[in-house]
Amino acid sequence: MAIEFDDQLGERIVDTTAHADDEQGTLRPRKLDEYIGQERVKENLRVFIEAAKLRGESLDHVLLSGPPGLGKTTLAGVVAHEMGANIRVTSGPAIAKAGDLAALLTNLAEHDILFIDEIHRLDRSVEEVLYPAMEDFALDIIIGKGPSARSIRLELPRFTLIGATTRAGQLSAPLRDRFGVLMKLELYPPEDIETIVRRSAEILGVRITKDGAREIAGRSRGTPRIANRLLKRVRDYAQVRAGGDITLNVADDALRALEIDEIGLDATDRRMLRGIIDIYGGGPVGLEALSATVGEEAVTLEDAYEPYLLQIGFLSRTPRGRCATVRAYEHLGISCPEPVKDTENTPIRMDDWLKTVKD
Ligand code: ADP
Repeated sequence: MAIEFDDQLGERIVDTTAHADDEQGTLRPRKLDEYIGQERVKENLRVFIEAAKLRGESLDHVLLSGPPGLGKTTLAGVVAHEMGANIRVTSGPAIAKAGDLAALLTNLAEHDILFIDEIHRLDRSVEEVLYPAMEDFALDIIIGKGPSARSIRLELPRFTLIGATTRAGQLSAPLRDRFGVLMKLELYPPEDIETIVRRSAEILGVRITKDGAREIAGRSRGTPRIANRLLKRVRDYAQVRAGGDITLNVADDALRALEIDEIGLDATDRRMLRGIIDIYGGGPVGLEALSATVGEEAVTLEDAYEPYLLQIGFLSRTPRGRCATVRAYEHLGISCPEPVKDTENTPIRMDDWLKTVKD
């Protein structure tokens, strides 16, 4: 589609220091070899990057999906580094108008990488500018107004778009289809998180024992951002209360003080599970009702809390809503009513199951 060019450019939409936090910056891996875990994703990317470099071309557009804090932004930076390309970072909600995106695109150089975080939140009119840009490396611009208006097509440099989303399912089909590489990041297994904790501790200059690192890892919900955050809080605790080194006991005391239990559940997780059990008899309960009970936004519950609770089997998603499982009852020390046990032993019907996966 054609867009009206607006030269009112705000620098705000390009934030190369997105997620700015000095320490995070240093903890963020820069090379593929420093990026821990996600082996399948890395292996594929390695091949695509090498092939693009051999041909002297830009990399195909990449879509990264997965819960927050798993390393999508980091991976985009790593790809840029490996390609020897510049990266410009922005996010879906920050690009308010089609003209903002046009300005961004026209300022790119050959082989540059444009990273758009939360790409599912792009405005539809902005998204439509992306279609010809991604497919034909072209921008259609209307110059002038009224009868004298004419449309010109502007050629763009061959850039790579890396989009990140916590909601791959919410992307419109035309946008999703224009990505050549689609990759899903999964929650990390505890061993990988342990390696991340040890690496971060080394960078931060704090001594940590193997079981100390394992303890933090086991309570980080498979998420690197949480692991780094917990490590920093435990480091504070170690410095003030325990002579500086992080041992198993220090980690345990510090995390207990933060109300993070032995499997990584925090106060919100517990409120959520208790809400389902105490108020809704174990479920099913709709997300909106649950959000009102817990006092957290529905998207936060869905993006940040549910993936881990689903992974550890504390929550199940049915077409009629969320249910607490027997395991959740057991963990909270609440006796589980027989009907809940029975439902879990009943095989799920095929059409119900299909509705759940489509979610
Ligand atoms: P997302 O964009 O998916 O929300 P980020 O890329 O911002 O997540 O990652 C959050 C933090 O976790 C980063 O600052 C980085 O330090 C750390 N991190 C993420 N993935 C990895 C990884 N594979 N190896 C080491 N550290 C990681």
